[in-house]
Amino acid sequence: MRTIGHLINGKFVADDPRQQDITNPSTNEVVAKVSLASKATVEEAIAAAAAAYPAWRDVPPAKRARIMYRLKELLEQNADKICEMLTREHGKVLNDAMGELQRGIENVEYVCSAPELLKGEHSKNVGPAIDSWSEFQPLGVCAGITPFNFPAMVPLWMWPMAIACGNTFILKPSERDPSSALFIAELGLEAGIPAGVLNVVHGDKEAVDTLLTDKRVQAVSFVGSTPIAEYVYSTGNANGKRVQAFGGAKNHALVMPDADLDNAVSALMGAAYGSCGERCMAISVAVAVGDATADALIEKLQAQIAKLKVGDGMDNGNDMGPLVTRAHLDKVEGYIARGVEEGAELVVDGRGLKVPGFEDGNYLGASLFDRVKPGMAIHSDEIFGPVLCVMRVDTMQEAMDIIDAHEYGNGTCIFTRDGEAARYFSDNIKVGMVGINVPLPVPVAYHSFGGWKRSLFGDLHAYGPDSVRFYTKRKTVTQRWPASGVREGAQFSFPSNN
Ligand code: NAD
Repeated sequence: MRTIGHLINGKFVADDPRQQDITNPSTNEVVAKVSLASKATVEEAIAAAAAAYPAWRDVPPAKRARIMYRLKELLEQNADKICEMLTREHGKVLNDAMGELQRGIENVEYVCSAPELLKGEHSKNVGPAIDSWSEFQPLGVCAGITPFNFPAMVPLWMWPMAIACGNTFILKPSERDPSSALFIAELGLEAGIPAGVLNVVHGDKEAVDTLLTDKRVQAVSFVGSTPIAEYVYSTGNANGKRVQAFGGAKNHALVMPDADLDNAVSALMGAAYGSCGERCMAISVAVAVGDATADALIEKLQAQIAKLKVGDGMDNGNDMGPLVTRAHLDKVEGYIARGVEEGAELVVDGRGLKVPGFEDGNYLGASLFDRVKPGMAIHSDEIFGPVLCVMRVDTMQEAMDIIDAHEYGNGTCIFTRDGEAARYFSDNIKVGMVGINVPLPVPVAYHSFGGWKRSLFGDLHAYGPDSVRFYTKRKTVTQRWPASGVREGAQFSFPSNN
């Protein structure tokens, strides 16, 4: 049995006493074991990153960017291999894995402009013969802790930018599907990142806690569920670190009576059921304005759900693969049962689905609830499965109030033909990423990604321009070279141009 080890200072290490099984979600067969890093192992990685930092900090940004160009090429050349690894451990359909990887590559493309992004700001003559500039210096050792659902893309939100900015990095990928993140890091070293500048440790709370408390780690980026995001944010802050912690979501689509319903339904199908709903930007609630809109929406969704193909992710003919683990399948099915108990109308029940040849897989068919009300657990909690809840309201404002009152504020969208309504919605809704007739408004790599409310703890968003700010600290220098021989007396009032 293959043991997935850590990558520390350019070498593989796997001698921790604790290991965890990695299963194929399509069959539940154990395909590998992953070594769970002890405190000592993580400290070894931190020591390697700290030792590599002084030299890496001084490498010119253009040289660091050149490595990222090579990384982009290597990612493209190895795309099929990465996606197969990813699908075998995560379960998502290969085409979907390819979409995920492509989004990750786009982050690397943005990082290739590091010399431009790090140029800083300069002002000449801020006073007589005085110049001032702000430069953006690296922080030192940074760490990234990532979730199971985008095992290739989310690490690529983090370490390429951190490293291009002159930091060294320790990645702690999800212990449920770590292989693609590890392989991509190996490609990073092959592209020219020196040993010690990028390290990978696998593990659970013990590894995370070590990263959060060790004084040598300067900043932590986290993506995962809200309770852990909040814990990472407060623990990291208490230990003096800069932290950005991205949490869970419950994303609502507002369907207006004037919407192009066929377009809305096809968008909702992909956004609710793609990747089995295991996306932080998945639409899990559709709020229909008016009963006529809701009735038509339910009817059209039912017809589309009947055509969905669910099966092994290695087959691109399928629309949906299995859920990531048996425990997660049980949790999602538990929510379906709870929704029925709480009085919602289960229009399509995906439970009990058996995929021929994959009877032991974590399969669940697309499920659809109607007449979901605020206060029901299926509305308040993030289910993270292929379950779409339809809510019925009388007015657009009522729908917006439901969305605003929810604890999460990651993404949302509106389906309408009315530009004024769309503008009012995007102006006023209390959510960080908004789509107008676009169901998954995931920003492109040259914008930044982040939710509001309990979907993000911290200020700066992920990737794009905000990530340059997150992985650097501003230093502002004010410089004067007095003409030789000039002597001035001390100035006691606060210096200004008056
Ligand atoms: P998770 O919170 O279980 O795990 C995320 C990371 O935290 C993993 O690396 C895991 O090892 C670590 N971890 C788990 N328990 C821990 C503990 N007690 N102490 C310290 N570390 C711990 O999340 P997941 O199930 O892997 O991912 C799904 C979640 O991630 C969903 O809630 C989803 O919405 C969220 N997510 C959010 C975004 C975003 O950008 N907002 C993006 C992707 C996923």
